[in-house]
Amino acid sequence: QDPVSSPARTDSWSSKIDTSVAHPARRYDYWLGGKDNFAADRESGDAVAAAFPTVRTSAIENRRFLRRAVAYLAREAGLRQFLDVGTGIPTADNTHQVAQAIAPQSRIVYVDNDPIVLMHARALLTSTPEGATAYLDADLRDPGRILGDPQLARTIDLSRPVGLMLVAILHFVKDADDPYGAVSRLVSAMPSGSYLTITHATNDHMPPEILAAVGDADAQIPFQFRSREEFGRFLDGMDLVPPGIVSVAEWRAENEAGPRPSAAETAVYGAVARIP
Ligand code: SAH
Repeated sequence: QDPVSSPARTDSWSSKIDTSVAHPARRYDYWLGGKDNFAADRESGDAVAAAFPTVRTSAIENRRFLRRAVAYLAREAGLRQFLDVGTGIPTADNTHQVAQAIAPQSRIVYVDNDPIVLMHARALLTSTPEGATAYLDADLRDPGRILGDPQLARTIDLSRPVGLMLVAILHFVKDADDPYGAVSRLVSAMPSGSYLTITHATNDHMPPEILAAVGDADAQIPFQFRSREEFGRFLDGMDLVPPGIVSVAEWRAENEAGPRPSAAETAVYGAVARIP
């Protein structure tokens, strides 16, 4: 039973949506030029953009990276299953659309903890007939709940390789909430030959005055930049796919229209790694 198709419950979900504070999914939607955002999200988005003027470019480049990474995983790594945690509000080229355009039998489980993403989940459940998609309303900080969900077991076969996608989510999990533990728990559940894909905001190239301004602008949303070294620790023991850890704008971007934004303009690292 697909809970999204029950209109009676829609009201209780929308009542969970707090429009008075900015939310990551809605603010990202705003930066990408979407319509599913509220005044608080736009204010927060504009405040960050005032401090870090290329944030929209950064969001767009992150989204392009996601498309290239899924295409690589489906076409070159031959993956047919994906677990996409931190899905975001559906927009163009969601993971299942990119994967199923290459391999229609692809199966995708989406996970997000924001009620507005849940409200839009129907758009994520538009699978090809040969494949399948599912949506879990769950939190990355509770990996046991994600892995134990019967919908996951129904959609993905954990004895076959999976593309675990953690794209622009980990910077919302502060060290106190043990992001390394959560990632390692998910990775341990994936069979050999699976892949982990991560993007993450970094302050490595950010002058201190911009960093301070971004921090002030961002007070509503728990957030943590990580360095290249801290990024790399999520991928410990895995085999990085070339070109390794680079700016999202540079990762296998040969076919993107140039010129490419600089690492300082995107301030987001991306990488794909094979789980041995
Ligand atoms: N992966 C997509 C969307 C990124 S926006 C892309 O890169 O295009 C980040 C998403 O992560 C938001 O939808 C937000 O709701 C979700 N998110 C943030 N913290 C989360 C958590 N602890 N558990 C689950 N989802 C989370």
